[in-house]
Amino acid sequence: MAAPTDPATGRYCGRFAPSPTGPLHLGSLLAAVASFLQARTRGGAWRLRIEDLDPPRAVAGAADAILRTLEAFGLHWDGEVRYQSGRGDAYAQAVERLRRTGHVYPCACSRREIADSARAGIEGAVYPGTCRAGVAAGRTARALRVRTDTAAITVVDGIQGPVTLDLAREVGDFVVRRADGPYAYQLAVVVDDAEDGVTEVVRGADLLYSTHRQIHLQRLLDLPSPRYRHIPVLTDRDGRKLSKSGGDAAVDPRNPVPTLWRALDLLGQSPPPELHRAPVGELWGWAREHWRIDAVPRVRSLLLTG
Ligand code: GLU
Repeated sequence: MAAPTDPATGRYCGRFAPSPTGPLHLGSLLAAVASFLQARTRGGAWRLRIEDLDPPRAVAGAADAILRTLEAFGLHWDGEVRYQSGRGDAYAQAVERLRRTGHVYPCACSRREIADSARAGIEGAVYPGTCRAGVAAGRTARALRVRTDTAAITVVDGIQGPVTLDLAREVGDFVVRRADGPYAYQLAVVVDDAEDGVTEVVRGADLLYSTHRQIHLQRLLDLPSPRYRHIPVLTDRDGRKLSKSGGDAAVDPRNPVPTLWRALDLLGQSPPPELHRAPVGELWGWAREHWRIDAVPRVRSLLLTG
């Protein structure tokens, strides 16, 4: 399958977009390595975006630690690092456009009210549409929601295959600006991927069902959709995804080679055992020469043992 390129520049652009909620763990390193190799082996750009939209969840120093770890691993990005915390104007413009075209509406419901009246969907409560026709008298609008419609969206994921989702049934009208102020991840990611000219998104399969929301927003905002490939997430024995905020084992930037070797192995690349102790440049040389996205396991999660 041909690699997607920007029609204006003819160039492939990939990206890595960590949230600064803690140090990088092996699961996020996998997403970094896969997106990096995919971009570099196509002669493309690889951009870095720190998704620090949510001030209460950001951990002081985490963004800098992520940058230093990526550098220690030889994951060098192109251009300036983009910080979502500085992008409020761009997100406001996108929301304003959605408002003008009648695609968003204010919502006064509390989390509690939604939980009490909602059906369960693919990722939690489906918004029941309470404020769709207007906020009830005496109530104060809190969040902004985008209307969804019942036409199912099919994503043909480059690793997971076709995945169809009926957004209205399974997610419901979703938030683009939260009651406490910040813009939602779904909106910000769409605006930033478009601004950066990202042609292919390679990320963890925990975001597979976010893709349909992002495509919905791209269509409403008249933005191009990149191609998507979702790699498996790593889970522990209880089926829990490794997470930065959960304090799961951080990768050690002082000793990158064994971890990089393991990441390549988990990505199905079968690195030769003798490279386990090679200099990092040599391991990258091998990885760039042998990278095959088709060898990445076509599953949504991998159990991390040992
Ligand atoms: N910020 C998200 C995370 O750290 C990734 C978002 C994305 O790749 O679209 O899990």
